[in-house]
Amino acid sequence: MAYMGTAVVSGRATALVAAVGMDTELGRIASMLGEVEREPTPLQRQLASLGRALALAALGVVAVFFALGFLRGEPARLMFLTAVSMAVAAVPEGLPAVVTVGLALAAQRMLARRALIRRLPAVETLGSVTVICSDKTGTLTENRMTATELDAPEPPLLLAAAALCGDAFLDPEPGPDGRARAVGDPTEGALVAAAADAGLPKPGLERALPRRGEIPFDSARKRMVTLHALAGPPPAALRGALGPAATGAVFAKGSTAALLGICSSVWEGGRAEPLTEERRRRWTQADDRLARRGMRVLGAAFKPFSGSAPQRPDWERGLTFLGLAGLSDPPRAAARGAVDTCRAAGVRPVMITGDHPLTALSVAQSLGLAGNGRVVTGAELSGLDDAGLARAVRDASVFARVAPEHKLRIVTALQDLGEVVAMTGDGVNDAPALKKADIGVAMGLTGTDAAKEAAAMILLDDDFATIVAAVKEGRVVYDNVRKFVRYLMATNAGELWVMLLAPFLGLPLPLLPLQILWINLATDGLPALALGFEPAESDAMSRPPRRPGARLFDRGMAVHVLWVGLFMAAVCLAEGWLAHRAGRASWQTMVLVTMVFAQLGNALAVRSERTSFFALRPGGNLPLLGAVALTALAQLPILYAAPLRAVFHTVALTPVELAAAAALGTLVFWAAELEKALRRAATRGR
Ligand code: ADP
Ligand code: MG
Repeated sequence: MAYMGTAVVSGRATALVAAVGMDTELGRIASMLGEVEREPTPLQRQLASLGRALALAALGVVAVFFALGFLRGEPARLMFLTAVSMAVAAVPEGLPAVVTVGLALAAQRMLARRALIRRLPAVETLGSVTVICSDKTGTLTENRMTATELDAPEPPLLLAAAALCGDAFLDPEPGPDGRARAVGDPTEGALVAAAADAGLPKPGLERALPRRGEIPFDSARKRMVTLHALAGPPPAALRGALGPAATGAVFAKGSTAALLGICSSVWEGGRAEPLTEERRRRWTQADDRLARRGMRVLGAAFKPFSGSAPQRPDWERGLTFLGLAGLSDPPRAAARGAVDTCRAAGVRPVMITGDHPLTALSVAQSLGLAGNGRVVTGAELSGLDDAGLARAVRDASVFARVAPEHKLRIVTALQDLGEVVAMTGDGVNDAPALKKADIGVAMGLTGTDAAKEAAAMILLDDDFATIVAAVKEGRVVYDNVRKFVRYLMATNAGELWVMLLAPFLGLPLPLLPLQILWINLATDGLPALALGFEPAESDAMSRPPRRPGARLFDRGMAVHVLWVGLFMAAVCLAEGWLAHRAGRASWQTMVLVTMVFAQLGNALAVRSERTSFFALRPGGNLPLLGAVALTALAQLPILYAAPLRAVFHTVALTPVELAAAAALGTLVFWAAELEKALRRAATRGR
């Protein structure tokens, strides 16, 4: 059966179309994907509701302002224009753009670390990940397999069978290290290389025994079977085992349990002996022994036939077990450190593998992620009810001998416990679990297209450490979104308070409509965008993930926005009141300049919620420094170019007035720094 999506590389065939569209295998997987729904991310939801709340609040404030002015008998036209400008100032219209730019910048930084983001909102979800479910082979380990241990009565026979039953081959061109390079699945490559080292190069084996049929490996059955016809004199290693009458043989390789299930005898002392309970136990123990040392264990088996080849159902019956090969696969260099980083960051790494439980445990222990040492197998998972499953995924960090469909159950159970789950996968069967996970992570090197299609992120280097790096970037971007929400809200609040409170001091309008719009344009634009460039804070990966469902606009932020806004307004109004009383025509212009500088100072202070501006790396955010400098300079033409003065109704300030207004504005910076110092003092030692 050729499935939809299959590419014909060569040859000719007559084909009968058995199904089209959604009735094909690909269609079946597509419809499984369709069943898993995707909801808006928490940040998307929160920004939407924040936007609504702000729009309502702004309308309310503006209505109050308009009513007050009307009662005082201000000209209706001026009041109307002012009210509209205030509404414009109050709505953080830059927010969606700034958030998108922030996410895009983070996605770019992640790409530099070899993580490709396929869906932008995933960047933000990454920051709240609490559990990372990772494949073992190739993600936590290097997938550079070497057969380091053989346990077989006749090792050449084992190696010949294992090499014949597989698709990998050795590249005749040696690799950069001068050793032959295996092409194909690394597991199979290791066996082919071991056979070649034992004087059994695969091309010679295949000339004598060309392949005539195959049941490919799949991770649910955990074995592969091939059928070969004898085409010449058999290699010496196989001669005795095949016997004089053989016309061909079936070879199989796979996990010990999967192979013993189709064997009826064991090769011992040069012939097939019945597979007794005793012998089964002996090989199961040998399997455990190798696995306990962290090795990936594969067995091989064979069955010679004479006359015509057996039918496919008979291939997997009555084979003779040949022994075991232990493949070692070193943990990735960066994995250990990445696991430690996870621990410090309150993220639990979980290993999910099709390998032997003892292999999984040994590798998990060497990486420090074994937790309490409990390993749950796929067979156990299948027998668990929902409560048992919930307990299993809470307690155990290692899952072994799992089939792909177990992954979906594990993700779902973790999510039901309130965890935010990243899940890796490479096979077609992994696609539903990847789609269901909060962050589906596909392998860039070994992944199938179906897995990549379902994933939110692709690991270009298949490395676990890359996931952790991406989680860090996700946290940074969330921090930065918080920073510019804080900044924009405090800024806008300052503008509203000035306008709202001025009449109570007996002042006329402290800012004219165009002036409000100018301040809004200057300060909501570049400085807010530049906050998206803020690098990671030092504690980005040493604090727990934010609680799922934590509010972006929490009480701390509300208090901050309230007092900063009021303080800005107080400084501006105090200055405006004094200047107005002294009869200076420039009083409004001074309020404008002070307001701009107050907001720029706030942008600098808001770079961190806790760390002092002076403790941050000075060049850490050059775009912000540039934006602040540019915005400050942009005030000069408004003050000193006559045509612009006419438009904005400003006055050319004297140097002393300008210096005083700017200096007063920077008070906000110092006040915000004081708040951070108090906050640090309050939580010191915690
Ligand atoms: P993993 O999660 O480590 O990728 P797999 O599902 O690929 O696990 O492998 C599970 C088991 O199947 C292995 O322990 C091994 O015994 C066996 N196996 C792996 N690859 C092959 C293969 N290409 N052919 C036959 N058996 C294999
Ligand atoms: Mg595999």
